[in-house]
Amino acid sequence: MTSSYSTDIVIFGGGIAGLWLLNRLSNQGYQVILLETDKLGSGQTLASQGIIHGGLKYALNGALSGAANVISDMPARWRSALAGEDEIDLRECRVLSEHYYMWSNSGFRSKLKTFLGSKSLSGRVTAVEQRDYPDFFKAATVEGVLYKLPDFVVDTNSLLDVLIEKQRDRIFRVQPGSYTFKRNESGLVNAISFNDESMQFVLEAQKFIFSAGKGNQQLIDDASLTKPKSQLRPLNMVYVKGKALPPVFVHCIGDSFSLTPKLTVTSHSDAEGETVWYLGGEIAESGVGKDKDAQIHVARKLLATLFPWIDFDATEFHCFTIDRAEANINNNTRPEDAYFIEESNVLVAWPTKLTLTPNLADNISDHLVASGVVPSTPSTEQNLSDVLEPAEIATSRWG
Ligand SMILES: Cc1cc2nc3c(=O)[nH]c(=O)nc-3n(C[C@H](O)[C@H](O)[C@H](O)COP(=O)(O)OP(=O)(O)OC[C@H]3O[C@@H](n4cnc5c(N)ncnc54)[C@H](O)[C@@H]3O)c2cc1C
Repeated sequence: MTSSYSTDIVIFGGGIAGLWLLNRLSNQGYQVILLETDKLGSGQTLASQGIIHGGLKYALNGALSGAANVISDMPARWRSALAGEDEIDLRECRVLSEHYYMWSNSGFRSKLKTFLGSKSLSGRVTAVEQRDYPDFFKAATVEGVLYKLPDFVVDTNSLLDVLIEKQRDRIFRVQPGSYTFKRNESGLVNAISFNDESMQFVLEAQKFIFSAGKGNQQLIDDASLTKPKSQLRPLNMVYVKGKALPPVFVHCIGDSFSLTPKLTVTSHSDAEGETVWYLGGEIAESGVGKDKDAQIHVARKLLATLFPWIDFDATEFHCFTIDRAEANINNNTRPEDAYFIEESNVLVAWPTKLTLTPNLADNISDHLVASGVVPSTPSTEQNLSDVLEPAEIATSRWG
């Protein structure tokens, strides 16, 4: 006989979006199960730089409509979660840097100054006096201008730990393709059915949420949905390991007309406590298609030009490619905000940025309440751990 389990919500994908939603919706009294096909955090979340943006980076190249955008509220929102004052309590999450900086040593310094002065960015960015420079820039041997942003950087490993800790018995590993989606007579998805030799059971739910990043597309196809459209943006990320590397958290503004950060550096530690510089920004985008040696060559040259006072001789360079997965809502342009769409009882979601996850969770929570989804009474008889394995947590690329 095929056994049957039921819950209110099934979430697919254990990155930041799925794990945040799992916590948020469980706190609201819903019965929620999260299914993951790989290790938790193994997609974009652990590969992200962990910058909680206020959006200035995007305003710089004109890609964002300025101070009114949702993203400008996000640093304060995350800070309240980190202080234990939000629905999600992140007091145990480590902050790698309380500040994020923007540095320009190019001939475009005056252009940057004019730009920052001309927009309604007051309170969001402040020029740093040389005497107040952090140690890294005090040692600079080239002149430049330094600005402090409201952005800060979280440690994504500890962020995952916090979000997983209280939810372990609701998170399970499943094999891709080990289940099929079932629809009721109204054509709405109402269950998934596991029906192979090792497992035969049905998991029913009121709603299903796809928050599987790059994996959403396969899920959309498997569930025969028609509306949600996804897009991928590949990046070629570089990281540099070295005992003597001082930590730094900075966007370096280059001399391109758009003021797009040429390089975005965050600093992390590997398992041995060695410093790791993680390099994003324009170098990661223009590096797509370059092989490992070519990308590392570009990174070495760029670092030597931007930071001539740092010795990179005893450092190790590595790179890897990864896709950013987003909704395709406007002909392959980059979405500004978090996004979800519902079709046939299935919500398909992309936070667009780690930073915007609380906003995505607010929107989904409001939508569920407005759709009349009411928490059910928990059943004491069913235990999914009888049929499914727990999911493990992934580690950072640098170990
Ligand atoms: C290099 C890089 C740097 C970034 N830096 C920043 C930053 O500094 N700040 C910022 O705000 N944003 C940043 N981002 C964006 C941010 O990381 C993503 O928007 C966010 O992590 C997406 O989270 P997610 O949970 O939707 O997806 P993911 O983190 O990709 O998680 C998806 C999960 O779903 C699982 N999965 C896949 N298929 C299935 C399936 N069929 N069933 C169940 N599970 C499945 C995957 O294994 C994975 O665990 C960065 C992204 C990249 C790639």
